[in-house]
Amino acid sequence: MTASGESQAGRGPAVPSASAAVTHQPLTGGASLSGGLLHAWQQRNAEASLPLALRQLETAGNLANIRLAVSGAREGYRGPVFMDSDIYKVLEAIGWELGRSPDEGLASFLAETTALLEKAQQPDGYLNSYIQVTGRPRYSFLSYSHELYCAGHLIQAGIACQRGAGDPVLLAVARRFADHLVEHFLDQQQGIDGHPIVESALAELYRETGHEPYLRLASQFIEQRGHGLIGDSGFGSRYLQDHEPVRDTVTEVGHVVRALYLDTGVADVAAETGDAALLQSSLTRWADMVAAKTYLTGGNGSRHEGESFGDRFELPPDRAYNETCAAIASFQWAWRLLLATGDAAYADLMERVLYNGFASSTATGGTRFFYVNPLERRADHFEKDDPGRRREWFNCACCPPNIMRTMASLQHYLATVSGGTLYVQQFTRATLSAPVAGGVLSVEMATDYPWAGAVELRVTGAPPQPCGLAVRVPAWSPVPEIRRNENLAGAEAEGGYLVVRRQWRPGDVLRFELDTSPRLTYPDRRVEAVQGTAAIERGPLVYCLEQVDQPAGVDLADLALVEGRLEDTPATVPGVGDTVLVRAGAVRRAAPQEAGLPYHAAADEAQASGDSGDDQVTATAIPYFQWDNRDGRPMKVWIPAAAPRA
Ligand SMILES: [Zn+2]
Repeated sequence: MTASGESQAGRGPAVPSASAAVTHQPLTGGASLSGGLLHAWQQRNAEASLPLALRQLETAGNLANIRLAVSGAREGYRGPVFMDSDIYKVLEAIGWELGRSPDEGLASFLAETTALLEKAQQPDGYLNSYIQVTGRPRYSFLSYSHELYCAGHLIQAGIACQRGAGDPVLLAVARRFADHLVEHFLDQQQGIDGHPIVESALAELYRETGHEPYLRLASQFIEQRGHGLIGDSGFGSRYLQDHEPVRDTVTEVGHVVRALYLDTGVADVAAETGDAALLQSSLTRWADMVAAKTYLTGGNGSRHEGESFGDRFELPPDRAYNETCAAIASFQWAWRLLLATGDAAYADLMERVLYNGFASSTATGGTRFFYVNPLERRADHFEKDDPGRRREWFNCACCPPNIMRTMASLQHYLATVSGGTLYVQQFTRATLSAPVAGGVLSVEMATDYPWAGAVELRVTGAPPQPCGLAVRVPAWSPVPEIRRNENLAGAEAEGGYLVVRRQWRPGDVLRFELDTSPRLTYPDRRVEAVQGTAAIERGPLVYCLEQVDQPAGVDLADLALVEGRLEDTPATVPGVGDTVLVRAGAVRRAAPQEAGLPYHAAADEAQASGDSGDDQVTATAIPYFQWDNRDGRPMKVWIPAAAPRA
């Protein structure tokens, strides 16, 4: 029995209860990817990324730590304090993946690992290999121990295995831990975890079970923040979002992943408690983050120090941190706000994050990953001794398994349902069906998105009553004409969507075309780090220039874009795969002699360098998410814009 009393089949990571204060619900009846780029990512995740993770959980010591806890050992623990969370994220990915397609290897890994976790779990429900093996007292350094963070990931994994794989065993382990947390923390001042996620996990566990103390504890952890209860982790109170009460906070500060997971939990709790003021605080922070603290790629985090947000409009492309986990957290938060409000702006940001700041995390082959996602890398770049290329795994390996659980559940974020209308939020080849108007509306979506803007929605099943079929109009596209069976469809524009309401019949087809012509994008003057530059975008994709694609002898650092000529060309690039390249008119300016300060009195740099500026070349841009799949030479998103010549 769930909080909403509905069937569990097809339920994704975040499903508000029937009584929640939301305007949209996810599709619980069915959404699946049937082809195209997102489907290819999901297949790659199953075939390449997850097998790598299973090996790495052995190699890096995560599973060995659990075995030590089972044996009662008091030494030999390996890795950071949060090693258990990597196991849980992989199990979550497996839960969703098994709901998508059966796989004997993944199923047996799930069964064996769950059995191991059952053995490691202590009689009162507590489970944490770091604490159990090192013998440090439980909850004695919550600012850094990540005990509730690991518990949160265990709960999310348990829910995924229940909803995806239909396997309740891990969820039972998670519930025993959650019951212990309720016993220890609810209505107490026992502390809060320095790294949020348990808030949204407990709220979802409430949705899954209907057991109200989980929701009350989630709410308590949110309300207790901002009162100095966490203590000092050495990074200051802003790093931990403990500098002021959540309700009073108007801008995101501190460690980005922590801030955005906290707000994901805020949105969940506000939805379930109907607390409009709490929701409003989250909406305010989101609007501020988008307006002043978000990169063109949808990434967040301007500072390596503390993996944190910077000041408003502090968005340097080369120093961008943009942790992959931050993109995932942003995606999760925006999904909750989309459900709460129905506003297409949240789905717009999800699309920007999905195809750029999130997608860039993973190499074409699916076995190398970025932790940090900058918008520029120079030829001589090093971060300590790291040249900043993708890697198989990390000592702090939070990102790769986080990517895997997201990839495995992508279909759950494609569409929503509200008031008798099915809303198509993301465009890709997929099958969608939603309960509306006393029946079920089912559609097949056909498109080559994001490579092309044409989308076709074919109705395959319809309810006996009239109902709505809506499509989001991305903010970057002019409003398209929608045709139904070749005639204009009479679509109504409503808050970022076009809605067609009618009596649908199987075989009805809606067609429209979003304008994916390449375009130049310029920064707000307050984003000082990229003044005088432009970026190339095409549909939902942000583009970048990589040195490897430029004409022989042309140094990326010497290029400036000329406004006007942009041409797109489908291509298959070795090492990258299928793509659409954009050729852009550019001028090449030889860099000035390297003598003296790199500053000059003339406003026109070409004049200052004595260059005529008319050395015309064609620059080639590739989607940002596909960068660093070849030789690792320089890349940049923001390109100097050549001043128009008089
Ligand atoms: Zn991470």
